[in-house]
Amino acid sequence: MATKTKKQTEEFEYRAEMKQLLHLIVHSLYTHPEVFLRELISNASDALNKIRFRMLTDTNVVNPDVDLKISIEVDPKKQTLSIEDTGIGMTKDELISEIGTVAHSGTLELLQKMKQDNKPLDANLIGQFGVGFYSVFMVTDEVTVETRHADPDSKGYRWVSSGENKFTIEEIDKKNRGTKISFKLKDEHKDFAEDYRVKEVIKRYSNFVDFPIFVGKEEVNRVTALWHKPKDQIKDEELTEFYKFISNDLKPPLGHLHISIEGAVNFKALVFIPETGPPVFLKEHLEKSLQLYSNKIFIQDDCKELLPEYLRFVEGVVDTEDLPLNVSREVTQSSPAMAKIRNVLTGKILGFLEDWAENEKNKYEKFYKNFGQIFKTGVNSDFTNKDRIVNLLRFESTKVDKGELTSLKDYVSRMKEDQKEIYYLSGEHREELERNPNLEYFRKNELEVLLLTDPFDVFIVPSLDEYDKKPLNSIDKADLDIKRDEKEEKEALSENLANSLIEVFKQTLGDKVEDVIASKRLVDSPATLVVGKQGMDKQMEKMMKMMNTDYAGSKKILEINLSHPLIKNLGNKILADTNDAILRNSMLQIYEGALLLEGALESPNEFVSRMTDLMVEATK
Ligand code: ADP
Repeated sequence: MATKTKKQTEEFEYRAEMKQLLHLIVHSLYTHPEVFLRELISNASDALNKIRFRMLTDTNVVNPDVDLKISIEVDPKKQTLSIEDTGIGMTKDELISEIGTVAHSGTLELLQKMKQDNKPLDANLIGQFGVGFYSVFMVTDEVTVETRHADPDSKGYRWVSSGENKFTIEEIDKKNRGTKISFKLKDEHKDFAEDYRVKEVIKRYSNFVDFPIFVGKEEVNRVTALWHKPKDQIKDEELTEFYKFISNDLKPPLGHLHISIEGAVNFKALVFIPETGPPVFLKEHLEKSLQLYSNKIFIQDDCKELLPEYLRFVEGVVDTEDLPLNVSREVTQSSPAMAKIRNVLTGKILGFLEDWAENEKNKYEKFYKNFGQIFKTGVNSDFTNKDRIVNLLRFESTKVDKGELTSLKDYVSRMKEDQKEIYYLSGEHREELERNPNLEYFRKNELEVLLLTDPFDVFIVPSLDEYDKKPLNSIDKADLDIKRDEKEEKEALSENLANSLIEVFKQTLGDKVEDVIASKRLVDSPATLVVGKQGMDKQMEKMMKMMNTDYAGSKKILEINLSHPLIKNLGNKILADTNDAILRNSMLQIYEGALLLEGALESPNEFVSRMTDLMVEATK
């Protein structure tokens, strides 16, 4: 792809996707164009972190003794800005491969869509997409990057691009390690060539960069490791600023936890619970785990070993001196100190959530709405803390108002004296569940039923088996241990007649159902469908069907209400003629009506035409 122009200058074309992206960046109106500076500073800071880490074990690099810093120079007359770092630098290959590729699929589509919708493009987004470097083309027409890698035998290179279709690379003499990026500002952005403006942006976005930033001769950022300060000396604004800085989130966090542990293991941590998670398509890119520091020195980003998977929404930093630093990542990951930190940290975060659940219900519910799905998987993965996590679960329920949630503990406290089980029903949403005839018995007897509306619940709740020694049971199950109302029993069909009626039901429905039985749970409805012994939870089955379109589902048991007038009438009809068309049609209709209520009736046509026939008969 390279074509030689002059002797040492090579020319490269951007890939098609990159061209489109650049075109959008250059030709769109952005809110917050100043974030280009944050992006360049953040890249410089990454490069400085890399060299610092490398030098822990290897000092055979270019300029081993140079200060680690970022220097910004501006010239208001010439309208120019340059930013230079003493970081790890880039090799020629890196210049080609690292700069100029779109790392995340979906980026381009999203930006295009925003443009189509005529929304102003928020430059803040660019950095989150991992094309931060290119945000510089919001404020300039041409950029020069001069860089030399830290490897002792490295050479210097100059990279130039106008951000349209191509870039050039040539070899240059560069004595010092690191990278310098320089450009002339567009007229409408010439304010970035003023000291005060640059300082203002740094204060706003890059205050926590862990290396000194100089604008001219003045050092402008406060290099503070916030987590090393005593709790009472940290201001709320500082926390919010710090959180935004490390998380890329534009909103303040929902809460934070500052931990300082000394003893068998030593560490400090400053962790945050975000207000909301990142949008789904950016999840992988944005959802970073904790950052690991050793005595204020950055060791690694996205350190997954510091927290269990179900707490992966937590953001922040952990700083410990207990880890051997000059060893590989693998050894760090499997060190006993790491496991201890993880245990302590997990316990503290659970304690923090417990405190919210107890004392700040609104916050807790907000948290639960956004992160509950991830969090509850802890029930199946963290055996040590299972009980604590179970106590933090929340559900909708027939005894709490719509929109509110209850804990299992509160459910148990409301249980009736002779109630031995915890009941639940799963489905897509509350309204659907409230229509379910299986609830009738429970409503009538004032027994509370948890309404599981989150699809994840069907993986969690059945695996609980019991809570506080009380078994959890789905009220969709056929073998539920409930007593039939005596008064209704008296009014019901006689046993003989009932048995014959059930036989005719079975003949009529054939292999549509697993069985037909007399119901103990129905009050107002003539019939309902329940899950047989081998069957699985309705919600679970729906998910299976979604995942596998060939999966037909297990057969259900039809329960009929022997006290219902319709069922009683049918009982009387079989005495006359078991093949009566109205009788048979009514049975099919009862079955399909029950399916309809569950949202599982596949062909409404037959249902409606049968209903029409029945109405014709009834209106004769
Ligand atoms: P991101 O920082 O999200 O990876 P960027 O487009 O900002 O995306 O940068 C792309 C890559 O270019 C970086 O990951 C890094 O490898 C390289 N890079 C950018 N700026 C520098 C710099 N100042 N020093 C060394 N490498 C850099």
